Amino acid sequence: MSDKIGPNSVSKPLSEVVESLLSLVFPAVCVLCSLEVAGKSEGYVCQRCSRDVRRVRPPFCGRCGLPPSGEVTTSFTCANCRESEPCFESARAAVIAEGRVLEVIHRFKYRGEVWFEPFLVQLLLEEACPVLQGSSWSGLVPVPLHPVREREREFNQATRLGTPLARALGISIRTDLVRRNEMAHVQAHLSREARADNVRQAFSTASQERIQGNWIVFDDVLTTGATAGAVAAVLQRMGAERVVVWSLARATMAGSSLGSMT
Ligand SMILES: [Zn+2]
Ligand SMILES: [Zn+2]
Repeated sequence: MSDKIGPNSVSKPLSEVVESLLSLVFPAVCVLCSLEVAGKSEGYVCQRCSRDVRRVRPPFCGRCGLPPSGEVTTSFTCANCRESEPCFESARAAVIAEGRVLEVIHRFKYRGEVWFEPFLVQLLLEEACPVLQGSSWSGLVPVPLHPVREREREFNQATRLGTPLARALGISIRTDLVRRNEMAHVQAHLSREARADNVRQAFSTASQERIQGNWIVFDDVLTTGATAGAVAAVLQRMGAERVVVWSLARATMAGSSLGSMT
């Protein structure tokens, strides 16, 4: 039996062999449109569906990157940023968190459907690299999950998506600098100030290290920016000069997840 199996198939993990056999019988189609062919390397989303995802384009709030809810044609500062100055220099995102791409992010994040990762990473790199490559960065810090949440979910989506971004920029990803503290109280019943306090206290330094230079805080979805801002504040206390925030997707005012402050 062994003399019929070539050296390539022996060295491949069994799952890969099964997968390539399956793909002969069932060619992988795009999960979103079920029309075009899309395989593992594309994250099972076809090129056409990928192009249809709405990218974040100006105008948006010059500070936090929030797209306007109404008609705005010039640059502006949103009410949030006017009311309380964020702890980061700027926040930007690759795509608008809506429709099918938001559904894919939720399936990736909450159901562990990690095969979508190449699709999400491609969207992120296409938008983030041209902007970030212009400056020099000391490192990238993914927004930490609470350890209990991370164990339940088995991975931190911000680390998963931030790792290829850090690699593309040639910088290190640092998960050892900032810690997420005990679960904050349920936010829903709190006043705006109490919520802000809650989020600020959710993170602390995890290291005695003094840092310097410019840093990127990364999260998968940005809503108000309060969470990423709290991580940015920790990095500033540790010595960071500039902190910018990047995320894969940006919730808009029209989006439904703004209330969750994540
Ligand atoms: Zn498609
Ligand atoms: Zn803003």
